[in-house]
Amino acid sequence: MYHRVSTARLDPFGICVKPEHFADQVAHLRKRFAVLSIDELASGLKSGRPPKRAIALTLDDGYADVLSHAAPVLEAYEVPATAFVTFASLGSESRFWWDELARVLFTESCQLDSLRLTIRGATFRWQMQGPGARSEMETYFDIHGLLRPLTEAERREALFALSSQYGTPVSGSTNDRPLTEAELRTLAGSSRIRVGAHSMTHPMLSAQPEEIQRWEIRESKVRLEALLGESVDSFAYPHGDLGASTARLVQECGFRLAFTATPGLVRRHADSYRLPRFLAPDCDGAALCERLDAWFAGALP
Ligand SMILES: [Zn+2]
Repeated sequence: MYHRVSTARLDPFGICVKPEHFADQVAHLRKRFAVLSIDELASGLKSGRPPKRAIALTLDDGYADVLSHAAPVLEAYEVPATAFVTFASLGSESRFWWDELARVLFTESCQLDSLRLTIRGATFRWQMQGPGARSEMETYFDIHGLLRPLTEAERREALFALSSQYGTPVSGSTNDRPLTEAELRTLAGSSRIRVGAHSMTHPMLSAQPEEIQRWEIRESKVRLEALLGESVDSFAYPHGDLGASTARLVQECGFRLAFTATPGLVRRHADSYRLPRFLAPDCDGAALCERLDAWFAGALP
């Protein structure tokens, strides 16, 4: 599981793989393993005999660098991958909310003594300076945890409230933006890349009522299919999170496969709607192959 192929300065979750590492990883993976397309994985699961020591590559969220930095490498090495796209973010001027939160906390020039945030009537405060202060990184994870279960509108409101405490927002680098619709069409035109759905607004699905979950899941499929003119039959759960009814809803909406972010191997007779994935680390190809050998031998990260 990849997210970004980029040299990002701010990467609290460790989801960026540097472009030179990604190219080296793909070169090594192609030599050492059978890299399956999503269709080959689906057929392997259907037959109950997924090939041994085979891997499938996925890229979550829909960052612009999937087109600019990942796709050329995948094409050059003729390696298939699936890009899971958050539909409502396409063409958005604003960053994904977790990147915007990082920008506000880590790149605003003025130092605040304290930060406060009111969510659904409850006010939270963080001491940013002096004895007992929370570090920026601790505050980032605190606020990330609070924003994750909210709706997209509530998250944007919270980010605005945070940003306004720092005064004038600083314009950050835009290389962490999502794809535009035109870029996604170009990406989907690649013979190596299939597009999958990653919801409309990247919510924590388990925190949403069933009708919202169904809308997030179905609408992302319908809108992607209308935009691309091809079927979209795989789904990746945002944040790897699913509630009791989420997998059933994904199946009812017509998807064939769905991926979590739980580390693990896809075994024979695996549940096609709870497929595990390992997060690709930012390392060179030889180091990644060593990790894969360990994972195939049963180790966990
Ligand atoms: Zn995601």
